[in-house]
Amino acid sequence: MTDAPLKLFNSLTRKLEEFRPVHAGEARVYTCGPTVYNYPHIGNMRAYVFADVLGRTLSWKGYKLTHVINITDVGHLTDDADSGEDKLEKIAAEKAQSIWDIARHYTEAYWADVKALNIREPAKWSVATDYIDEMIEFAKGIAAKHCYELDSGLYFDVSTVDDYGRLARAVTEEGEARIETVEGKRNAADFAIWRKTPPGEKRQMEWDSPWGKGAPGWHLECSVMGEALLGFPFDIHTGGIDHREIHHPNEIAQNQAHCCTDGLDVAENSGARVWMHNNFLVERSGKMSKSSGEFLRLQLLIDKGYHPLAYRMMCLQAHYRSELEFSWEGLQAALTRLKRMAMRIELLRSGSKPSDAPDTAHLKLMEGFDAALSDDLNTPEALTVFEWILAFKSKDQGAKLAAISRLDSVLGLNLLTLTRTDLRIRPKSAIITEDEIEAALARRREARAAKDFATSDAIRDELTAKGVEVMDGDPLGWEWKLQ
Ligand code: AMP
Ligand code: ZN
Repeated sequence: MTDAPLKLFNSLTRKLEEFRPVHAGEARVYTCGPTVYNYPHIGNMRAYVFADVLGRTLSWKGYKLTHVINITDVGHLTDDADSGEDKLEKIAAEKAQSIWDIARHYTEAYWADVKALNIREPAKWSVATDYIDEMIEFAKGIAAKHCYELDSGLYFDVSTVDDYGRLARAVTEEGEARIETVEGKRNAADFAIWRKTPPGEKRQMEWDSPWGKGAPGWHLECSVMGEALLGFPFDIHTGGIDHREIHHPNEIAQNQAHCCTDGLDVAENSGARVWMHNNFLVERSGKMSKSSGEFLRLQLLIDKGYHPLAYRMMCLQAHYRSELEFSWEGLQAALTRLKRMAMRIELLRSGSKPSDAPDTAHLKLMEGFDAALSDDLNTPEALTVFEWILAFKSKDQGAKLAAISRLDSVLGLNLLTLTRTDLRIRPKSAIITEDEIEAALARRREARAAKDFATSDAIRDELTAKGVEVMDGDPLGWEWKLQ
């Protein structure tokens, strides 16, 4: 198999660039992780499926991957710029609970989604509050040249670095209007790197610093953990497109100040060579918002009976830089596609074991898959090639299974273990268990075999009354589904 060069879209240069690692043979990736004040919605999880596919692709290409995802448990305000309250302080006050308990609960919920979506564990989950000393050191290093103090905290003066906002390219009036003014700020885009606890108040999370008791700004934590764990410059920094507007430009400005290498003409000066952003998952009726009652969590999809990997499939069907609209019909279509694959592979597995390696014919076909991935992670195209490979007529089933196993190391759909039964729609609210359905269907088969159609129909009616649709002759082999 010949390898295509890996090309990735760099948001900083707005160009497709061939990936050239900073350290030969290695790839170091930092992904902005969740703010653990609530459950992640499925849009958030799209960001981690994207980062996972990136990591898996780098491994597929033979790089030794070091991936870091952070957990933000302090500093993220209710507004991405500098207004509002700390998201965790706010929810802790509302629930009269400790921030630490809240952070632990939502971190675990996030990890459960990570596991369900078959997102690989990064080398490190870095927790912001574990790096407070390093953040204070970083801030001390840039304070004199790049910051100024106000009553509310230590602020970064964005006019002290070259080309501020180049990543966003959006220093528009509209962009500026979104940033609420804090009295005394020199430039609208200046941001707090340390927020002082107001006099007379006590926060649950506060630390001593040269600027008084307080807490770090959100942007500071990613700069600090990126450097501490991956070293500057590292290869790739990822996040959702909203981060391209405020969070990442601010991280870049801090990194420029810290590295004392101001000019952005050399991309390394921004801390990471390549900045990549996934587009949003959108949902027209607004259920994605965490403030709405029943928002779209992965668990909701599972409760409605969908296997979580159907959602992973849905993400892979779109290019990460395209907006993806969520709909239940779209999820159903992704599930059906996944089921077709799983059924085909189950059949192959029933006849053979995977060989140690694919044969030449399959390796040749896999070049198309590699070319699609190498073209800025074109997963929709890679899935199409994958289906050609599945359909390719070959006597060597073991070689085909070996190819599938390699291709699935990137797709992450568990295709060598997933079964048709795993993908059956099973809503939590069902009033009948699967065992009961299977037993009724077995009785029905017996009745039909004995040409006792009255009993067969009665069993069918009984099942219908309990919300089970019997699907005789379904082309995909579904025997039943719950309404
Ligand atoms: P947060 O927990 O709000 O910091 O967000 C976690 C990640 O999800 C970030 O990378 C965001 O950019 C990303 N994100 C937020 N909303 C969406 C969405 N609707 N679709 C895709 N990514 C999103
Ligand atoms: Zn971040």
